[in-house]
Amino acid sequence: MRILLVEDDPTLRAQLRAGLADAGYAVDEAANGVDAQYLGETEPFDAAVLDLGLPALDGLSVLRRWRAGGRTLPVLILTARDSWHEKVTGIDAGADDYLAKPFHMEELLARLRALIRRAQGLASPLLQCGAITLDTRSGRVSQDGQPVNLTSHEFRLLAYLMHRPGQVVSRTELIEHLYAQDFDRDSNTIEVFIGRLRRKLAPGVIETVRGMGYRLAAPS
Ligand code: CA
Repeated sequence: MRILLVEDDPTLRAQLRAGLADAGYAVDEAANGVDAQYLGETEPFDAAVLDLGLPALDGLSVLRRWRAGGRTLPVLILTARDSWHEKVTGIDAGADDYLAKPFHMEELLARLRALIRRAQGLASPLLQCGAITLDTRSGRVSQDGQPVNLTSHEFRLLAYLMHRPGQVVSRTELIEHLYAQDFDRDSNTIEVFIGRLRRKLAPGVIETVRGMGYRLAAPS
């Protein structure tokens, strides 16, 4: 999953970036509203963390422009403490959730997980597809009740597919959602990780749809 992080405070931005990366997200950053608007309009993100007080263009205007342009990505806004009117205005402008500063990274991560899940119509943090279970909270994966040990890249790939069971996901989509813009994107990388993941999962779980991409076999 790929997150757009918009925060002008360099210290907080670095902390958030580290926390998000530790949680397995690919992160692109913007330090002002103009860059944020542009990135949100041109790159596919699974969610955005958007500070409201930003230079060049404020966060609420960024959000309104995204929504006016039809961008539906889940947006978690960061508001000033005790500023109930910011929360109300933010939600009315199209925010999906808010977090008041200062906050705990754990809470931000939990809210993001929920937003990303709900964007795919998934209510439970425990994702299930056939014999495979993926716990989005702990990052644990099991197959027929047996733990499956995955590297962070393998986990990110499986998590993306588990959020879209039965859907065909193209290699391009995987690259765009698993890696940040500055990452050296090579579509062979995806094939390599798909291959590794297949060796750890039961045969047939990850189907190749010729010329289109991959699909996680929906439970029969
Ligand atoms: Ca700010």
